[in-house]
Amino acid sequence: MKYCQGPLCHTYQTKDRIRGPKGAKVYQTRRRSSFYSLGGNACSMRCEQDWFQKFGERAVNHFGRIVEPIKLTEDNAWRKNERYYNPRGLNPYYWYNGLTEQELPMTEEQYNNQSLVRP
Ligand SMILES: [Zn+2]
Repeated sequence: MKYCQGPLCHTYQTKDRIRGPKGAKVYQTRRRSSFYSLGGNACSMRCEQDWFQKFGERAVNHFGRIVEPIKLTEDNAWRKNERYYNPRGLNPYYWYNGLTEQELPMTEEQYNNQSLVRP
């Protein structure tokens, strides 16, 4: 079980956030075994947005702000593809270059090898 990381989660007054005995009720941060927002760390899009509003700028600066364009070149444009429609019985796995549109055959083993990123 983990708590929603939304900094304002406890301020949204819904019944499922109420805890405590009559006369001493409080609203508290949601706690669940899993969440769907903020990569599994926030209970809702609202809490995700609250988190980004408060921490996003610092997070971007901390992990590395992009300060010049990242470029797609012939060298890093290779993608792994799988043919789902394959009436001619071609090798189902292949490299595809998003810039040159070149295709190269690939084995299933190469396709599944996560560290292999270009032919
Ligand atoms: Zn929340």
